[in-house]
Amino acid sequence: MTHIIIVGGGLTGLFASIVAADRGAKVTTVFKGRGGLSLSHGCIDVLDRSSPSRSITLLPDHHPYQLTGKANLKDAISKFRDLMLHAEYPFSGKLSKSMSFLTALGSVKRTSFTPPGIARGDLNSGKSIVLGHFSGFRDFYPWMIQKRSTKAGVRIAKVIDLPLLEPPDRRDAYSTDYALLFEDSEWREEIIRMWRPLLPGVRRLGLPAVLGVRNHCEIHEEIEDSLGIEIFEIPTLPPSVPGLRIERILLRQAQALGVKIIEGVGVIGRIDGRSRGKRVAGVVLHSTGRTIQLDADVVLLATGGMLNGGLVAQQDHRIRESVFDLPVLHPANRSDWVGLSLFHRQAYASAGIFVNSRMQPLGLDEKPMFKNLYAAGGLLAGSDRSLEGSRQGIDLATAYCAVNEALG
Ligand SMILES: Cc1cc2nc3c(=O)[nH]c(=O)nc-3n(C[C@H](O)[C@H](O)[C@H](O)COP(=O)(O)OP(=O)(O)OC[C@H]3O[C@@H](n4cnc5c(N)ncnc54)[C@H](O)[C@@H]3O)c2cc1C
Repeated sequence: MTHIIIVGGGLTGLFASIVAADRGAKVTTVFKGRGGLSLSHGCIDVLDRSSPSRSITLLPDHHPYQLTGKANLKDAISKFRDLMLHAEYPFSGKLSKSMSFLTALGSVKRTSFTPPGIARGDLNSGKSIVLGHFSGFRDFYPWMIQKRSTKAGVRIAKVIDLPLLEPPDRRDAYSTDYALLFEDSEWREEIIRMWRPLLPGVRRLGLPAVLGVRNHCEIHEEIEDSLGIEIFEIPTLPPSVPGLRIERILLRQAQALGVKIIEGVGVIGRIDGRSRGKRVAGVVLHSTGRTIQLDADVVLLATGGMLNGGLVAQQDHRIRESVFDLPVLHPANRSDWVGLSLFHRQAYASAGIFVNSRMQPLGLDEKPMFKNLYAAGGLLAGSDRSLEGSRQGIDLATAYCAVNEALG
């Protein structure tokens, strides 16, 4: 049985762990912290174009989608959707046609695959929209959404104040606080009773995406049925509940498949001295002042970019890959790493390591550095995932491709 060590607990690492375990590998997944899913809107962005599947073919040769090929992207998405469906959190959408939804900042965002709550907010449906406001919730400002979305051509009829029972009162409430309250059926019953008289004539209501973590679909349907209106969710500022729902499902599924999860431990290098030829013998883990060695047949890096430690910006103007010190492509001059404003191109976000079409990291000679080392997700160079709206599509496609190449 092949033993694969996957480094990283974000979308890429968790999805890769499940794909590998499903294929019969012995999987150990190591990560020092949770990945970026709590920052994500919880949808699968493939490419911010009206027809991603058509536009993908026009991307440059070194782009991750060109390296994996469209078949890997399709299969990865199909696998991801099966996993979510199995967990009663089904995703809808098409590769050939994007859908548009409202963000917490009032902008209109295109994506490819969405969970049920966000799918109901598809702006192409054209029905009149009312937004709900929860007083005391700092990460959702419906009046700002109303004002800004008008500029984007979306008409929001009005904003309604919706009371909540006992919101956490000694501090600002986070979306996760409300999501947990919505899990409580008695609390929900009381909320529905209070809201009913406030919603005459409302047919479609947008709420912050906090309708439960574990039982979202059930909760969503119950509230819709009880109020007799269509309800959709708008992803909030972090922590993002739709992102956390995905993280929870993937973690549970990985554990159910026997993946050994080592959380809170950094991987600081490879085991040296025992490597035969161009193979990695395993990795060195570091936690609370001691190091241990973990042998592996295959290592897959899913350590992400700068935020979660896959790439580290150094004082010497170099960006270093944190585990194997693989060559990283980035602008030589540090002042060129960031754009003029948040909304300009950020060169640091495209920094990453180059891989071949098998997802093997390449050395400066453009040859694979190790025969049994693979990489996927936010660690890869070749795309500005934020600007082109391709984060999760790249994470899934490259993770799927890397595992299949590694396991043969
Ligand atoms: C700056 C930033 C902004 C984002 N904005 C958005 C957004 O606007 N919309 C959106 O949908 N999503 C956003 N995301 C989330 C995004 O979906 C994911 O972060 C991204 O897709 C990469 O996923 P990943 O699994 O490859 O890496 P990550 O999610 O970054 O996960 C990396 C994992 O590797 C672990 N790790 C790293 N180095 C080591 C090491 N040496 N040893 C052990 N473990 C290690 C980390 O602890 C973490 O578990 C953002 C993320 C970042 C970083």
